[in-house]
Amino acid sequence: MADISGKIVLITAAAQGIGLASVHAFVKAGAKVIATDINAAKLKELDGTPGVTTRVLNVLSTEEVNKAVAEIGRIDILFNCAGVVQSGSIMDMPDKDLEFAFDLNVWAQIRAIKAVLPQMLERKDGCIINMATVASSVTAVPNRAAYTISKAAVVGLTKSMAADYTDKGIRVNAICPGTVESPSLHERWHATGDFEAAKKAFIARQPIGRIGQPEEVADLAVYLAGATYTTGQVQIIDGGWTA
Ligand code: NAD
Repeated sequence: MADISGKIVLITAAAQGIGLASVHAFVKAGAKVIATDINAAKLKELDGTPGVTTRVLNVLSTEEVNKAVAEIGRIDILFNCAGVVQSGSIMDMPDKDLEFAFDLNVWAQIRAIKAVLPQMLERKDGCIINMATVASSVTAVPNRAAYTISKAAVVGLTKSMAADYTDKGIRVNAICPGTVESPSLHERWHATGDFEAAKKAFIARQPIGRIGQPEEVADLAVYLAGATYTTGQVQIIDGGWTA
């Protein structure tokens, strides 16, 4: 694995969950992290962490994303981590849910990619990691239509970019986690009305017998950042769910 120390990494949705764990994992690998999130209060908790610069950034805004990238300057690695999970099959999925899922899960990644790609192409060197999930083109779970449809597009985005940019020095990979412990996962368990039963049901579909930890996914992101012969791949990390 290539040394990524000194590399500049921009991470979206870095205030909690997998994004936050990735901030710490990249710092441990010697990278310089620009941790961004819409949640200013949570992001502030990272202030003062060596190797980390924080910046409030709403990835739904093209203007904000372009401004941030212009002000930051060099970005070697972009980790597109922001995303949203909504419930419902297509029949009970409001159109606005699918529109929002596409905006945050897909367009936000495209926005950030379009902002950083010109400088990466100039240097003929860049690494992009897109957060997808196994609930995408890999497999599906009931009641997650907007999520599955939009995250399948992330896989398509990743493959399409690899086809267009591998010979120009850009590597693009997607990460497909199964269920990972995070604040939003806990919210989803609470929303069922029976936190413990929901937790048990989620664990039951994991052959490995437990939920994944954000740090395990963060380590995969760091690996991909240094995996110089890997591009266009869909890296599954799901405790054997889709084995
Ligand atoms: P999370 O859902 O708990 O946190 C998401 C973060 O995104 C929050 O800090 C929030 O403030 C930030 N955010 C929301 N809207 C934003 C915006 N417009 N601009 C910038 N930041 C914004 O974290 P998580 O569960 O670790 O999920 C992170 C990513 O991993 C998502 O893309 C999710 O789809 C994906 N994922 C999660 C799981 C899981 O089980 N947790 C599984 C597979 C994939």
